[in-house]
Amino acid sequence: MSVNRLGISVFLLIAGVCFAFVYAFAAGPRPEGALRLFGPVVQALIEPADKGLPEETLAVSPIAAPLRTVFTSEKEQDGVIRRTLVLAQGETLTSRLVGSGITRTETAKAMEALRARMNPRKIPSGRKVVLLFRRGEGGLESFTGLELRKTPVKLVSVERLSEGKFKSRIKDIVLEKRRFAVRGVVRNGIYESGLKNGVPAGVLNTMIKTYSYMVDFQREVRKGDRFEVLYEQATDDEGKGVGAATLIYAALQVGGKIMPAYRVAVLKDSYEYFNAAGRSIRKSLLRTPLKAARLTSKFGMRRHPILGYSRMHKGVDFGAPIGTPIYAAGAGLVEYAGARSGYGRYIRLRHNKRVSTAYAHLSRFARGLTRGTRVKQGQVIGYVGKTGIATGPHLHYEVLIDKRQVNPLKVKVATNAALSGTQLAAFQDWRSKVHSTFEALIAEAQGAVKLAQNAPAAAFSR
Ligand SMILES: [Zn+2]
Repeated sequence: MSVNRLGISVFLLIAGVCFAFVYAFAAGPRPEGALRLFGPVVQALIEPADKGLPEETLAVSPIAAPLRTVFTSEKEQDGVIRRTLVLAQGETLTSRLVGSGITRTETAKAMEALRARMNPRKIPSGRKVVLLFRRGEGGLESFTGLELRKTPVKLVSVERLSEGKFKSRIKDIVLEKRRFAVRGVVRNGIYESGLKNGVPAGVLNTMIKTYSYMVDFQREVRKGDRFEVLYEQATDDEGKGVGAATLIYAALQVGGKIMPAYRVAVLKDSYEYFNAAGRSIRKSLLRTPLKAARLTSKFGMRRHPILGYSRMHKGVDFGAPIGTPIYAAGAGLVEYAGARSGYGRYIRLRHNKRVSTAYAHLSRFARGLTRGTRVKQGQVIGYVGKTGIATGPHLHYEVLIDKRQVNPLKVKVATNAALSGTQLAAFQDWRSKVHSTFEALIAEAQGAVKLAQNAPAAAFSR
């Protein structure tokens, strides 16, 4: 190696070390770029001024030049200054306090008090901490305490006592409720698409349950269908939703058909979803699954007209001419469609995990109806006949809960209530408020962020 080359190498080495040194110094513990260089310097200026002062004799120790710029916000009211800082990855609260111009002694005392309520080493990055200062004579400030959230509903505060000691306490946080509006497009099922758009799972479950009376989510909802959701949820100080959310309004557009649902209080603490016309969406099973029928035999013990002895009549009979259409009492799946001994031609529909209905003595089934067919409420499934053991043409109708027959005329199901008069007027008022709230929130969200991936769909036409 020539001398010249050695010289260059030494120069590069020295330059490198210098650079590394400056860089390390400048990098410091702070995340804010502009402050990296100045933080430690200012801190060095403050510290010697405080050194040697008997802390205990001072009620407050003045801070000459607090680093305002390290705070994300600052508010002053009645001489109390609240400065908010956000802990960055790898930072400790101690380093931030010291970096904020608070002496090491005071920082240590405040941290000691804090430790009684929570582990300061386990404060997650991103957590906001509010430092409290009091403005005294000559504009001098003194550190009087701090506040931070331990959990979404618990606030830890550290307060300075007059004798220079610090004390901590824990308070409940009253969370602010906020409304959120989401307008999205179905990509990969309504549930996944909702989650992707930030809708809480609980809200999606309520929505799916509500619409299950009129929509078959597995078969009818397709890619490109749209939805709207307005929900309410408590939020923490970082604006994140906390705890259960309440669905206030939803709209589902399936194949060009728009189905809105509005949350309405029907009784104290009891809510149901209503459609735009003010009718409850939850549908009960049809009590009479055929038109122009008369009840000819009730549910209960009776003397059997053909068999001649007393036995339980596990359904109700409706007398009607042969060929009268029979309707599905509710949306569901055909579980059985065929001959079944005394029942004759028989259909059983499963409406959900617990509830089924059965129809007997049919003359024939509706065209194409077989086991596994999905039916909607009110759809014609077959026709009145007198097959099996029957004295005359009638429909024998059963409601089964957990596979046991119950009285179809007494079974308690949803109200299917419709609003009228002043209630309907109040509902229509509420409905328009819901829509204006929804549109305002959507406009706000669109103004705040342009979501490239989830470009909001165009407004539903109403
Ligand atoms: Zn019967």
